[in-house]
Formats: sequence, C-alpha cells, structure tokens
Amino acid sequence: MKLAEDVAAIVTGGASGLGAATARALRAQGVKVALFDRNPEAVTALAAEIGAVPCVVDVTDEESVAQGFAKARAANGQERILVNCAGIAPAARTVGRDRESGARTRHDMALFEAAVAINLVGTFRCCSHAAQGMTALPPQGPDGARGVIVNTASIAAEDGQIGQAAYAGSKGGVAAMTLPLARDLMADGIRVNTILPGIFATPMVAGMPEAVQEALGAAVPFPKRLGQPEEYARLALFIAENDYLNAATIRLDGAVRMGPK
Ligand code: NAD
Repeated sequence: MKLAEDVAAIVTGGASGLGAATARALRAQGVKVALFDRNPEAVTALAAEIGAVPCVVDVTDEESVAQGFAKARAANGQERILVNCAGIAPAARTVGRDRESGARTRHDMALFEAAVAINLVGTFRCCSHAAQGMTALPPQGPDGARGVIVNTASIAAEDGQIGQAAYAGSKGGVAAMTLPLARDLMADGIRVNTILPGIFATPMVAGMPEAVQEALGAAVPFPKRLGQPEEYARLALFIAENDYLNAATIRLDGAVRMGPK
C-alpha cells in the first residue's frame, strides 16, 4: 500500500510510546491519522500537535470502540491501516510467591484478566471493527489490496520471564492469532502482521529504576541499548507499505533472548 494523503489510519494506544511514534511517522507521510487512547489529556495534546483526530477510547469497551471508529471514519474516511499498540504490562506477579514476603502464593485474577482484556481481547476487538469497514472498500491494484493490520505482541510471547504469566499469556494470544486472522481476512485483501518488540524506551519502561533500564539495555546483544520508538514505527510503516508481507510475526529486539530471571 502506498502511504499518502488519501489513506486513513487508526493507531490504538496512539497517545504514548510506540503508538505515538507510529502516528507521527504516518503523519509525516501525509496519512490521515486517528488516535485511540484511554488517556484523554495525552490523546488530545498529541492529536493537536501532529494534526490527528483524537478519540478517547477504551479498547476493553465495545461501545467506546464503536464510537471511536465512527468518529475516525466521519473525520478521515474509512481506514486502510490499523496499528494496535494499546496495552499494559502488569508490574506485579499474578502467581507464585509474593516478592516482598516470599511466603504467600499469589492469586491475582483481576490483574491477569485486565492484561488479557486490554492486550488480547482489545486487540481482537479493534481488528474485527477495522475488518468490517475495510471489507467494504474498493480493492486496489492488481492484488486487490484493501487494508492492513499491524498488531503489537512482545518477545514475552516467546520467552516470557518470571512474573510475566499475564503479560506473556495475553501477548502470546496476539502472536498466535496472527495467522488465523490473516487467513480469515485474505479473501478480502486485508493483511495481518504482528511485531514482537524487545525492550523499548517508552513510558512503559521509563517507570523502572534507571539502573534496571541500563541493565536491560546492556543485556541486548547488539545494539547494546534499548530500542527507540522510531525504530518500531519504521517497521510498522514498512509492513503497511509491503503488500507481500502477510501473517508474519517479527521480533524487533536487537537479538535479545530473555533468560529465566
Ligand atoms: P505506553 O504505556 O507508552 O503506551 C501504551 C498506551 O496504551 C498508553 O497511551 C495507554 O494510555 C494506552 N492504553 C492502555 N490501555 C488502554 C485501553 N484499555 N484502551 C485504550 N488505550 C489504552 O507503552 P508502549 O511501550 O508504547 O507499548 C505499546 C505496546 O507495545 C503495548 O502493547 C506494549 O505491551 C507493547 N510492547 C512494549 C514494549 C516496550 O518495551 N516498551 C515491549 C514489548 C511490547
């Protein structure tokens, strides 16, 4: 797909980190962008700055998502690109011994369910809404392309660490549904691919102590640093532009493989 002024895109989690960088990169190509995010202040501020449509959306809420798609389409027309970045990384363990006391076995269903509701179900919900609308678009070019979806899992989907059962479980679902979603939508000219980021310098990671961030960066084989959001955005745009890339799960991680700790 050629990125240009007549193309509309929706970026979820678009007010921060990887989503914000992707929204900026799409705008730089002239693409009309709508930002979905549950943070009203951040989504309003970034949309004003880059000339995007702000949509205060909670991806766990069907009505909120439906309203977001309606607002985005009313302003920009039917989207041909959906980039799903909305997500959370629970800091606490959902199972096993408590970090502080070391004695109790944790049983945190609320945290597990929140991760699945946002990261997995929220991603599927937005894919499904986008597919409904993209299917009605006229096919383009000799391949009959209609649209492209880029989902965001995590390397935790493949090598989750201690404390990541909820995160890895939810992200594993995102990675695993890539192929069946692509197969379900290929007859309509819609591609689905998933990026598995390693460790990126975003607000999600900035909350960690500086020493931990430095250690994380040093643990990356090459380059020995955290990924930059712009590097994620470049891959998201490459996927959007390359019509032969379909049903792929792509690690973007400086070759890091998380160990057992
Ligand atoms: P971030 O915290 O900077 O941005 C996430 C955004 O999602 C925030 O603006 C937040 O308000 C929004 N959001 C959260 N829950 C939402 C909901 N229910 N509805 C709508 N919006 C919601 O994080 P980031 O680092 O940019 O992460 C983006 C995606 O990349 C996430 O899915 C994350 O799991 C994934 N990821 C990040 C890293 C990393 O190292 N930063 C690594 C692997 C995967």
